[in-house]
Amino acid sequence: MISPFFLDWQCERLGSSPQKALEKLAAFQLTALNKTLAHAKLNSRFYKNHLKGVKDIPNFDAFEQIPFTLDQDIRGKSSWFLAVSQDEISRIVTLETSGTTAPPKRLFFTDSDLEVTIDFFSRVLSHLTCPGERGLILLPGNTPASAGDLLKTALARIKVVGIVPGIIHDFDETLDLLFTHTPTLVIGLPVQVLGLGELIHQGHHPLNFVRHIILTSDSVVPAVKQRVEKSFDCPVFDHYGMTETGFGGGIDCFAHGGYHLRETDLYFEIIDPDTGRTLPDGRWGEIVVTTLNRRGMPLIRYRTGDISRFINEPCPCGSPFRRMDYIHCRLSHIFVLPNGKHLCLSDLDELLFKIPGVMDFDVSLGPGLGAAFKLEILIKTHDKEIIRPGEIEAVLSRTPFLRPSLDSGALEIGSIQTAVFEFKDTYQGKRRIMGLC
Ligand SMILES: [Zn+2]
Repeated sequence: MISPFFLDWQCERLGSSPQKALEKLAAFQLTALNKTLAHAKLNSRFYKNHLKGVKDIPNFDAFEQIPFTLDQDIRGKSSWFLAVSQDEISRIVTLETSGTTAPPKRLFFTDSDLEVTIDFFSRVLSHLTCPGERGLILLPGNTPASAGDLLKTALARIKVVGIVPGIIHDFDETLDLLFTHTPTLVIGLPVQVLGLGELIHQGHHPLNFVRHIILTSDSVVPAVKQRVEKSFDCPVFDHYGMTETGFGGGIDCFAHGGYHLRETDLYFEIIDPDTGRTLPDGRWGEIVVTTLNRRGMPLIRYRTGDISRFINEPCPCGSPFRRMDYIHCRLSHIFVLPNGKHLCLSDLDELLFKIPGVMDFDVSLGPGLGAAFKLEILIKTHDKEIIRPGEIEAVLSRTPFLRPSLDSGALEIGSIQTAVFEFKDTYQGKRRIMGLC
């Protein structure tokens, strides 16, 4: 019997039984959206202007008429979004975009904003740990209220000790930590946990105490999830969230059928990225998120750039709430080739991470012959002897999603090289195709 993930928490917040929870959620969200609109219009310099003329909304259809908030609205003028005095802000997160000259984006949080994230994390983690156990958090945690720090606080509330060494830089150090603390839960970046598991498995280290793994901060393709599950021999969970959602957003349950969402703190929509129209459940589109009850920096209809869809069928765990499918791709990571075909990092991930020995890879698109784009790949592996560039090229050439582009001359395969995988070189943000951004 699978227990529904954080359903009791949602029901407590809604003051509802599980049977009435869906109906209560709709009323709760509508009230919270109106409160958020009023708070933002009154106190945020950006929204005073952006929401000029917007009145209370009677229903969700009316909310869909409100203009979007874009990434570029926030960059360089983040303080315009502040809806409380600076004195009330306890955490500022600065996000840079590597490889661009775009101004940084800053996100502001009050203590109460962070508190709801900690509350969410502790309810989720209570499904995966027991009091007296330990959790190893391989995420940045030095700064107060960083993701690692919030997770540690959340674990402490359920009497679990959080160990936060940060991002993995060295395999032996992390292995020592594992055997010293014997954590039952490990949380980390997908590529790093994949590398950790492969090296542990290869070294025949008898690691039988880890019972659950959470991958977070980047999208996870099935090939990565399956390899991590195999090397650690335990269930792997996929967490979706970003700084804009207050770090936490949603996570899959033991049924592994998409994300259960934090819908009492966040209102999610899926829109057609071209027309901006809200899409019905089941259709793939861009995730748009509105913060509910966020005081420091409310975000209204913020376009995330992530592609997913709602799943309306009931989850086998028994939760009545809709789920969101696993992230397919990021809009900015989809390239349109001269023949109109799309090239997306997650397709390459699924293809290349299936190959034994591939622990990470860098990929770039550059100018090729004529109108063609040239695909160049650097495969990172623990053993350069087991990866042969010719075999990688053969796999790429055979794959159905690349074949038409290769045949038509819209795409050509350039150099394929190998390098030794190093934890310290892991890209810490969302991985992307480089070159033609
Ligand atoms: Zn479920």
